[in-house]
Amino acid sequence: MQWLASLSFNVYYLVRRLRLPLFFANDVQLAYDGAMEFSIIKQYFSGLGASVPKEVELAIGDDAAIWSPGAGHHIMSVDTAVAGVHFPVDANWYDIAYRAVGCAASDLAAMAAKPAFATLAVTLPNHGVKQLEALSQGLDAALKHAGLALIGGDTTSGSHLVITLTVHGWSDTPVRRSTAREGDLVMVSGPTGLASAALTMLDDAQCPQSWWQAYWRPQGRFDLLSAVAQYANSCIDISDGLLADLQHICQASAVNAEIDADLIDTSWREHLAQQQAIQLALTGGDDYQLLCTVSPTNEVAMHAAGFHSIGKLTAGDGQVSAHSQGQALQFSQLGYQHQS
Ligand code: ADP
Ligand code: MG
Repeated sequence: MQWLASLSFNVYYLVRRLRLPLFFANDVQLAYDGAMEFSIIKQYFSGLGASVPKEVELAIGDDAAIWSPGAGHHIMSVDTAVAGVHFPVDANWYDIAYRAVGCAASDLAAMAAKPAFATLAVTLPNHGVKQLEALSQGLDAALKHAGLALIGGDTTSGSHLVITLTVHGWSDTPVRRSTAREGDLVMVSGPTGLASAALTMLDDAQCPQSWWQAYWRPQGRFDLLSAVAQYANSCIDISDGLLADLQHICQASAVNAEIDADLIDTSWREHLAQQQAIQLALTGGDDYQLLCTVSPTNEVAMHAAGFHSIGKLTAGDGQVSAHSQGQALQFSQLGYQHQS
């Protein structure tokens, strides 16, 4: 079925690039009121995502869900996406929903946690039926892809679209930020910089497909869970930028990191100059690749899983540096800085 998913994505991408008025032309506007809330929940938010795990005894429909944690650790995280802050206000609701789930789910992958279920709090501005359908379909596709069942939530109205997701998973061996060791190699699961490159041209028909996909279809790297759980000493997902997120590991673990920029993958750079691609790869956020630190004895196994080495950890107190051909690189910012 991989080919079918890829075909439907390509058709969808083309429609988006050409900005065909496929989805929302003549959309019927819903006048939201409290009485509609339950039918909206039933029609658009029930039964979404992967099948409900056996630990969940009761999902959507009652005042709360019931789950009985099994053995191992219960891992959870919450993420909010706000229109105008985390995504463009006029973006398609399918894309917004997909991205919100992908970003939230990635935190589970970063802890080496197997995905289980999610809850969703959504604030809806005035909208049409087709927009709500698109939101529901985007949620469903991304939740299924991540392996999360939607088991509860809250639906409200407000002036802007806001999507908050809690994601829950299990792990026997969760991998933290604070357990990196001096002498570890720094390894990354794939190219970075594409999503932030896309951000500058999301509205542009010239935006390369791989960039567009990196921004709008973030995929938690659940395909790498067993390698991360088995071999990584520490792990983080790259949401703010490679250097910024590496600094979180370094500060939590009291080590320094040295990145060799000549080992950074810029094969995606298209028309960008190599230097600009390096800058985006090191400081641009939103790609949701995994950044791990690994004892050198596990390098071959991590490499076989799809990671590649980009630097190493040394003794220190949380500093991150990058060099290229022996020259230190200077960046005005390590990555995206949270405003609040
Ligand atoms: P209450 O008023 O008791 O909080 P609600 O009427 O808000 O209950 O919700 C009814 C049921 O629908 C609950 O099981 C809740 O978890 C679920 N629910 C509400 N909104 C959503 C949503 N956006 N996504 C998933 N489940 C939802
Ligand atoms: Mg209640």
